[in-house]
Amino acid sequence: KAKSEGKSAVRCFRPEFEAEYNARFVEESELARAIEDGEIRPVFQPIADLFTGQVMCLEALARWQHPELGMVSPAKFIPVAERGGLIDRLGEQILEESLRQAAEWPDEVQVNVNLSPKQLVSGRFPATLARILSETGLRPSRVGIEITENIFVDFSQSVLDQLTAIREQGVRLVLDDFGTGYSSLGYLQKINVDGLKIDASFLRQIPDRKVEAIIRTITQLTADLNIHLVAEGIENTMQLDWLRSNGIHFGQGFLLGRPKADPPTQRIDLLP
Ligand code: C2E
Ligand code: MG
Ligand code: MG
Ligand code: MG
Repeated sequence: KAKSEGKSAVRCFRPEFEAEYNARFVEESELARAIEDGEIRPVFQPIADLFTGQVMCLEALARWQHPELGMVSPAKFIPVAERGGLIDRLGEQILEESLRQAAEWPDEVQVNVNLSPKQLVSGRFPATLARILSETGLRPSRVGIEITENIFVDFSQSVLDQLTAIREQGVRLVLDDFGTGYSSLGYLQKINVDGLKIDASFLRQIPDRKVEAIIRTITQLTADLNIHLVAEGIENTMQLDWLRSNGIHFGQGFLLGRPKADPPTQRIDLLP
């Protein structure tokens, strides 16, 4: 039975997903070449004010435009880069390109870039960030670095020092995918962050009494800590309405805009 299910699962793949499916084994050497050849570039997804539609920030998301396979998802190649020691080079490239592009946007639009915990192994990330900030001339407060709770898996004094060094440059530190990892609440006491992003998995479960209670609690927590809150993964108006009526001001998701090479930088037309 399992065998026939497996077969039909393969047959069910839609053509637009075929490229990703084919690329399920990303070769490290191929990835190294792609990084060198500049095939991996950021696209940007808006984080907007849920009441006015104003774009507050654009999150950089890495995309690999492979010459034969087409678009390869970061879920496929980021882990390979992390394992193969390519993540520093890749991360630096994405950061550099993202800040370069952000310098062309209106001054009030910020840029967020994802950081892999592995980029904190060498200890060189804060210096790389400082160099790119000075080369692009971007105001540090326009830049946010998104970390996930995975950062706490190998948490050390060096990691703590680097996170502190990032914030001391005036760059925002944002805890991404909040609520999906472990020990998140305890670590909030140890590190200072400027914002949290509630993971999309919570929003996806609305309406649900427990999940709604959790989201409200996180909202209260960020208000008490005086830090920003962003809801990830807004896909429909029911979710948007729920967030608005529960006092959540900022969000990101396909309803507001998909990641794009040429993203909106002004106001998004929100459905009423
Ligand atoms: P993330 O940082 O949590 O980024 C949000 C992901 O959710 C993105 O997937 C985005 O396209 C997707 N998304 C946004 N809105 C919606 C929605 O309404 N519905 C659904 N179903 N999905 C939505 P993407 O671009 O595939 O990236 C996946 C993850 O890969 C990111 O999650 C991040 O952890 C990692 N990643 C992406 N770019 C980079 C990068 O440059 N460096 C590092 N270290 N990691 C990256
Ligand atoms: Mg992110
Ligand atoms: Mg996220
Ligand atoms: Mg996520």
